[in-house]
Amino acid sequence: MAEPTHYPELSFESRMDSVEFRIAEQAHIVVDDRICADCSTRGCVVACPANLFVPTAAGGILFNYEQCFECGTCYLVCNEEGAISWSYPEGGHGVVFHRS
Ligand code: SF4
Ligand code: SF4
Repeated sequence: MAEPTHYPELSFESRMDSVEFRIAEQAHIVVDDRICADCSTRGCVVACPANLFVPTAAGGILFNYEQCFECGTCYLVCNEEGAISWSYPEGGHGVVFHRS
């Protein structure tokens, strides 16, 4: 059996330094805060590699789309239908990955 691939640890700062964001006017991910208010798992908060989901004191979720890696993880881990509306940003916008 093939050996598993080990990737080096990458700090949050290094991860964010490895990309740039061409921000579209229109959000490509929209989070319905009213549905999040009833969510007990909050999977998006721990799963998003860019830390874009922030629980609020009122029990909701604060979300900003601008620094999104477009990885789709939040959409996969969220188990509340309709909480996340996900699409790709309009052409020429979104994340740009740099070679290290
Ligand atoms: S986005 Fe999904 S996983 Fe995250 S708090 Fe809302 S309902 Fe829960
Ligand atoms: S697509 Fe990835 S980076 Fe963007 S909000 Fe979802 S988990 Fe975070």
